Amino acid sequence: MPFRIIITRSSSQRPFLTQSNSPFEVPTVRANQKPDGFYRSSKAQHRQLVFQALYHQGPISRYKLAEVLKLRYRTLRRLLSEMLHEGIIQESGNVIVRRGRAPIFLSVNPHGGRIIGIALDACEVTGVLVGLDLSLQRTSHAKIGRNSSRKAILENIHSVIAELRQSPEGRMAPLCGIGYGEYGLVDANAGVAVRSTYHRAWHDVPIKEQLQKSYGVPVSIETEERCVLLAEHIWGAIPDTQTALLIEVTSGIGFAVLDRGELFSGARGFGGELGHIRLVRDGDACPCGSRGCLETVVSTRGIIEEMRQGLRHERGGTPAGHADRVTLERVIQSAMQGDALAGHVVGKTASYLGQAAGIAINLFNPDAVLLRGEMFRVGGSWLLDTVQHEADSCVLKELKMGVRWRLSMLESAAARGAAARVFAEIFGFNLSLLPRPAVPILEKSRRTMAREGR
Ligand SMILES: [Zn+2]
Repeated sequence: MPFRIIITRSSSQRPFLTQSNSPFEVPTVRANQKPDGFYRSSKAQHRQLVFQALYHQGPISRYKLAEVLKLRYRTLRRLLSEMLHEGIIQESGNVIVRRGRAPIFLSVNPHGGRIIGIALDACEVTGVLVGLDLSLQRTSHAKIGRNSSRKAILENIHSVIAELRQSPEGRMAPLCGIGYGEYGLVDANAGVAVRSTYHRAWHDVPIKEQLQKSYGVPVSIETEERCVLLAEHIWGAIPDTQTALLIEVTSGIGFAVLDRGELFSGARGFGGELGHIRLVRDGDACPCGSRGCLETVVSTRGIIEEMRQGLRHERGGTPAGHADRVTLERVIQSAMQGDALAGHVVGKTASYLGQAAGIAINLFNPDAVLLRGEMFRVGGSWLLDTVQHEADSCVLKELKMGVRWRLSMLESAAARGAAARVFAEIFGFNLSLLPRPAVPILEKSRRTMAREGR
């Protein structure tokens, strides 16, 4: 065969720049910035452009890359030389041809750096390690209690990061960034975890600053739900959708909006509190201080509690033996099998959830709606259809046409989304243009390259 691609060398062991001169800090321009500061910012931007071009179009030759980026060849050669030395890009192969000098192609080196994503939820810290092609390398978990102290939660976050870094995959390459996501209010601009939904002690934590100080790499923070939606967009149920909603039911309600490929966050990042829209006038008190919020009528704990009360009532007001053995799984399975009481409890929850979803669809006009949470793991498409049916009854017909309803089932989705979030920030990608996990370099055929004119 006269034409084939071979890997010429591996650059995964080469040194990466340290944080003090990190090439991928997001450039900031200050009013009193000196010329050399500007130079560094502009250089960082050029490096981001090179990385993005290699990501979307690699493997690609140097000449073609200069053409694509409209950069002077000398400037490009200097940037490439640095990036090759650091190992974040690689000479991915050369082409054996019958005559003439073989061109050398460049691409991103998936093992030239590592990104860590961390997610804090009700009972554990989840961490993922991904490569520079966003491929999942390793996952780690640490259990935490509902009443954990701030110190204990932070120690668990550090222990998950340490485990990932010390794993064989983590030791292969330097750490480039950490993404962090959690349930609750998050001020992404200030880098502060304002208030956790689950952990009373975890509030006003300057988590971005703390992680940056500890690890010396860029850190981004985001809400758990937005991270999940981003992960589903990249790896999961809605790869081809730019506008989507996620509704997550746990002991509260999580909500996120993807609007034309970007995550909607509002002025301070607190936008999207669907759980606190009022659905029941003079309803039960909500922890937020209001009454009758969606969270007071839809939650996993609420389903279990209402089923218990129903069972006790059926037994004449005395606690029935089996009422205390009620689990979410049993309630939903009983409802699916036609049990009247379970059907009533689950139906009521689905009805409220459908109404809230309908409001959200009327507001945001999405292409897709994702439903997530343990109740959907058990109830699957049966429960999804029930919620959709209710939502459809209160959405304008022009808005409900073409909405795809999906279950969100991606494992470790929040941590993966958090990793993708910081990856986008480091390498300057718009979230809407964030690459899918890269096609393995050797999969590009001669025909593809010829078609693309390389
Ligand atoms: Zn509320």
